[in-house]
Amino acid sequence: MDCGDVREVLLDYQQGRLASEAHGQVRAHLDGCPSCANEDRLEHELTLALERRLPQYPAPVGFKRRLAAQWPAEASSPATRRPWPKRWAALAVAAVLVLVTAPLAWQVVLAPSETGRSAMVTEAVNDHVRLLQSQRPLEIESKGIHQVIPWFSGRLDFAPGVRFAGDADFPLRGGAVGYFLDRKAATLVYGRRLHSVSVFVVKAEGLPWPRRGLERVGRLEVYRTSSRGFNVMLWRDGELGYALVSDVGPKDLTLLAEKFASSS
Ligand SMILES: [Zn+2]
Repeated sequence: MDCGDVREVLLDYQQGRLASEAHGQVRAHLDGCPSCANEDRLEHELTLALERRLPQYPAPVGFKRRLAAQWPAEASSPATRRPWPKRWAALAVAAVLVLVTAPLAWQVVLAPSETGRSAMVTEAVNDHVRLLQSQRPLEIESKGIHQVIPWFSGRLDFAPGVRFAGDADFPLRGGAVGYFLDRKAATLVYGRRLHSVSVFVVKAEGLPWPRRGLERVGRLEVYRTSSRGFNVMLWRDGELGYALVSDVGPKDLTLLAEKFASSS
């Protein structure tokens, strides 16, 4: 397992979702790789930060904790973990402080691309969850794209470039202006049966868009992953970048991405 492999499965590792052999491999890598061990800790902090930002959901978090407590504590047993050097501990404290004040910007600006990529994924999931929890998630509720897209003009310094008007499979529910990391985002919400898919559109420049492990969807090159139970797709299309997030399955997200690819 190399660093890239480890980063891909880090969340699954932390949540105890890996088979025991893979779990052991990740753990062995983390023991020998300070950079990945650091990432491991950052991810853990981000999870805690996310939980703190979701006070409305005490039950699932409590449930998660109970689950975590039930896992054989091999990964977190202090007896078997190698102690960190003092300098690392100081860095960890500093990093936690930064995480509290500016969780994601820090990663994007200073960290290498893999951390940046995971920051993008985390932000997309956070934004989606925030929308789900919001009392009034949509600033414009809509039955038609011709209402929604013009609504953005004057509220953003770019045109969202979305032509997919929604259909019977993915009805357009509406839109809002939000933030994605350091910039404004056009947010569109499509329905999928009883679920919803959030689409965040931003100016792509300066964000760490994934360049490896892409797959083709229509004319688009898409990065696909999952995080905290949500499926995520990221792609760049010219000057704009797109993030799709939902709890619907990967096939459903691919369907929607295909509709974006063929209509824009
Ligand atoms: Zn590594």
